[in-house]
Amino acid sequence: MTQVIYTIEEWRTKYEEIKQLKGSRIGFVPTMGYLHDGHLSLACEAKQNADVVVMSIFINPLQFGPEEDYEQYPRDLERDVEQADRVGVDYIFAPSVEEMYPTKPKTTVKIQEITERLCGASRPGHFDGVGTVVSKLFHIIQPDTAYFGQKDAQQVAVIQQMVQDLNFPVHIVTCPTFREDDGLAMSSRNVYLKEKDRQEAVVLFEALQRVKTLMLEGERDVKTLLDEAQDVVSQAPSADIDYIHIYRYPSLEDISYIDTDVIVALAVRIGGTRLIDNMIVEVVGKEVSFRV
Ligand code: AMP
Repeated sequence: MTQVIYTIEEWRTKYEEIKQLKGSRIGFVPTMGYLHDGHLSLACEAKQNADVVVMSIFINPLQFGPEEDYEQYPRDLERDVEQADRVGVDYIFAPSVEEMYPTKPKTTVKIQEITERLCGASRPGHFDGVGTVVSKLFHIIQPDTAYFGQKDAQQVAVIQQMVQDLNFPVHIVTCPTFREDDGLAMSSRNVYLKEKDRQEAVVLFEALQRVKTLMLEGERDVKTLLDEAQDVVSQAPSADIDYIHIYRYPSLEDISYIDTDVIVALAVRIGGTRLIDNMIVEVVGKEVSFRV
């Protein structure tokens, strides 16, 4: 049965017990809760590779802008515990905001350059909030391995940079994006979508598929690919494009002709709900492969 832990002290005691069992490895899945199958796929991956699986559920106020959905963000801890239990999560760490931030932190993490593009450009301060909370969670939980979803590929790049720069002894694993049958990437925010918006939301995935098809036909010009992707998204009447970009991955540097690994990333508001999706394209000579 999944055990819920609310305080840092409680976890530290548990951690000492776990580490006395020689060689036991802790796999960690940080989340903001309202779990769906995407989150659970990360937990399953952790379950396969670690002895003890810890999932955190914490909606981190530091990573939300003043106009964003911190207050409305969906919450249901009871349901989350049931779901986590189903896939064998051993512990849920669900601290309060006061537990994590008893006072306004004077020490925060600032990750430069790769945070200035894509979601970082649209959401100033977002990735510093993510870096700060993930750094705190790594110090608290002390996992051997942490699992993140490709759905938030820029977040993965940012965390990997932070782990490398600050020498966190944590191995980072990226798991594939888990999708609904029609291709929409699962997200806790999908509950905001009204029925008509839900149908239109598939254009993000369709835009990625269009880029994939063109690349398989040999197209490598970034502007051509982006124009095509934009055309696909524009077919949804409620779509309001925040960005569609292709950058080198994971550095997120500019590129105009694709001859190396890139990310195709987009953020689109559908009926007011901001959705993101991406595809990583791996390029070796003339060969391309896609992670979508
Ligand atoms: P969140 O609760 O949205 O902060 O997400 C927690 C973790 O789950 C992050 O590492 C996300 O990238 C990952 N995640 C969210 N949605 C998906 C998905 N559809 N497929 C795979 N991983 C996901």
